[in-house]
Amino acid sequence: METHFSKEQLKNKDNKSSEKILRKCVHCGFCNATCPTYQLLGDELDGPRGRIYLIKDMIENNKPPNEKIVKHIDRCLSCYSCMTTCPSGVNYMHLIDHGRNHIEKTYKRSFGDRFIRNFLSRTLSNPTNFRIIAILTQFIKPLRFLFPKKMREMIKLMPRKFPKKTLPNMQVYRALKKKPVARVALLTGCVQKVISPQINEATIRLLNRHGIEVVVPKGIDCCGSLNHHLGKSDLAHQSFKKNISIWYEEYLKNGLDAIISNTSGCGTTLKDYGFIFRADQDFKKKAKKISELTKDITEYLDENVKLNFIKDKNYYKEYKIAYHSACSMQHGQKLHQVPINLIKKTGNKVFNIADGHLCCGSAGTYNLLQNDIAKQLLKNKISNIKKINPQFIATGNIGCITQIANGTKIPILHTVEIIDWYTGGLKPEVLSKL
Ligand code: SF4
Ligand code: SF4
Repeated sequence: METHFSKEQLKNKDNKSSEKILRKCVHCGFCNATCPTYQLLGDELDGPRGRIYLIKDMIENNKPPNEKIVKHIDRCLSCYSCMTTCPSGVNYMHLIDHGRNHIEKTYKRSFGDRFIRNFLSRTLSNPTNFRIIAILTQFIKPLRFLFPKKMREMIKLMPRKFPKKTLPNMQVYRALKKKPVARVALLTGCVQKVISPQINEATIRLLNRHGIEVVVPKGIDCCGSLNHHLGKSDLAHQSFKKNISIWYEEYLKNGLDAIISNTSGCGTTLKDYGFIFRADQDFKKKAKKISELTKDITEYLDENVKLNFIKDKNYYKEYKIAYHSACSMQHGQKLHQVPINLIKKTGNKVFNIADGHLCCGSAGTYNLLQNDIAKQLLKNKISNIKKINPQFIATGNIGCITQIANGTKIPILHTVEIIDWYTGGLKPEVLSKL
């Protein structure tokens, strides 16, 4: 694609990298074939190629977008399915991030939109705020018909109860071996640790049982991706910098073999810290190191741990499992087969879901901000899951777990819960009746 950035414009690091990305695009449109929003809406501007043109026009001409452009960019899920398909290696992820930041800086949204986006930004990225709001929401649930549509949907999606934690909050979880074989940091996340603490607990138990010490340094909650995808770069960068500084200090002082993410949406962003700070002299080196250290839990287990599966046919039944490949896992981190192979080692039957490259509609805050499209994507996903008739569903991202659980009664759990259970950990509570 031809570009016309001026020399002055190319002094800006974001323009410079976007120019490189844009030049790679050959307008072939292959990406449209696997874009969930293009598939649903059939509008060129709701597909990656159309969005690439819209972003190019905004940033090249350095002009604020109009309402129509914002609508089409907002409808993008940031699922990165287009990146998997693109034969020219167009990094759509970095381009849409730039586009979103540009919109946030140059476009004034309606009062209602600003209110909702600011509310999500401040609530979801902070576990304490999220817990308080979720509790308060229970009282207004019966009156939710009084609220505007988006707020009604948000209230509906708030969790009803919070599972009890079985592990105390600690900064170091010791390995069950005198001499640990490795030492890793765990990102416990913001929403996940409130609504599904059992995922972090299964991760810690599993790693500890296999001789790995787990540290959860104080001060790290949100990875920053929530604000990053809302285009709120200042808030996102505050989280990024705080996390990088804390982990880097831990790495230098006590040593870290890896930083483990068990939420693939967050893992994708952590792996991008190096790119985000590529021009920041103070953070460049540290951010690059943090990205290099980051591993999805399944990736870390596959590469580093000899898992001790317990073979006891009297205790472990054989299940039929549908595996949902989260977009951030398969398209963002290019990890698809690794989690499936790990689950297969438990002796269970694992099935890919038809049209598995398409998003379930969760996509961070998407199911709250673009509810109609998210609902349609969820409906399609559930219908494809039902074709498998599984006893339960497995996936590696809390957003997908929450979204899919809203559309079906089939139990859904995190991959790490299955691996923990089959290597001597607790049987996940959602399977208590199976
Ligand atoms: S990120 Fe997903 S929704 Fe957005 S353009 Fe690419 S494929 Fe379409
Ligand atoms: S597939 Fe790649 S090169 Fe082709 S239009 Fe899409 S982004 Fe451009």
